[in-house]
Amino acid sequence: MLNFLSDTVTLPTQEMMDAIQHAMLGDDVYGQDQTVNELERLAANMLGMEAACFMPSGTMANLASIMAHCPRGSKVLVGNESDIYIYEAGGASVCGGIVYEPIPTQADGRLLLHDLAKAFPFDEEDPQFALPSLICLENTHNRCGGKVLPIAYLQEVKEFAAERNVPVHMDGARIFNAAVALDLDVREIARYADSVQFCLSKGLSAPIGSIAAGTQSHINKVRKIRKMLGGGMRQAGIAAAPGIIALHTMVARLDQDHRHAKQLADGLARINGIELDVQQVQTNIVIFRVTDPRYSWDSFLQTAKSRGVIFSEMGYGRIRAVVHRHITTDDINRAVQLVEEMMKKGPF
Ligand SMILES: *Cc1c(COP(=O)(O)O)cnc(C)c1O
Repeated sequence: MLNFLSDTVTLPTQEMMDAIQHAMLGDDVYGQDQTVNELERLAANMLGMEAACFMPSGTMANLASIMAHCPRGSKVLVGNESDIYIYEAGGASVCGGIVYEPIPTQADGRLLLHDLAKAFPFDEEDPQFALPSLICLENTHNRCGGKVLPIAYLQEVKEFAAERNVPVHMDGARIFNAAVALDLDVREIARYADSVQFCLSKGLSAPIGSIAAGTQSHINKVRKIRKMLGGGMRQAGIAAAPGIIALHTMVARLDQDHRHAKQLADGLARINGIELDVQQVQTNIVIFRVTDPRYSWDSFLQTAKSRGVIFSEMGYGRIRAVVHRHITTDDINRAVQLVEEMMKKGPF
């Protein structure tokens, strides 16, 4: 199978498995797991943040970060195409009593200041309004096809938020893809957010886990909320050990995924019946449409799968291909060849 389903399908490396076997363990709920402590220090350091907390998933990292920032009855401003709004089961509303205010998402993943401004009431003293307490950005932006938010834009949002006394949370599930694409230290991206979430379990190839990072006082709150949500894990060093290896060995190689994604996009864009703008591909995600009338998006997915290539649907009938460590240059060529054959023959 050529599995373009997601970069979460990446398996731990042998070095990660060895690290798991030899990890120094303790009870992390008491702060006694040295391996977790090491991962948290390393991650905070890399991001240039005061503190970090190891989380079971990106979903919990986002939820705990939002709940730590937002009082009950306040509003969190989220992109209407964001993972937080679409794929996280409404957690902030269910668990935190927080109102999601969906903001239109531009094709490049940005939320315009003009649109964010509309979520702020004219008169904050007027008792009828729920007040915004957090702005969330997504970087890279999944449903916009792995788009990297420009640094100048991050700076604008930071200033806009500071003027209104509201923090910025970055859902940076793939923040290292953004850093590699911009050829910047990840700190140069994280510095425009008050808190960051990133996934160890995606392109970085660790089996489990995410990092929530921010100021020490913010992370103290996150840690308490993590416990409340049932995310306090005991010998969690088992899961943290591969995360340390991921941060040391898997960041620089993301560039290869980005080159493969461009190669895939170039190949697919030349096929009749496929609509794809190669200029839109910035990181490891390729989004395209099937315009051949003999296929619906789901018959395209089914036929491809029956021939050994897995893609997924990413809203509005668009097809998503995610490139990752297990996809080689040959795999890209084989996938392009198969889609070409599918477009020649029609459904089979
Ligand atoms: C995957 C993802 C998440 C959630 O991470 P999980 O570990 O799957 O819960 C959050 N935000 C974005 C942008 C993601 O791609």
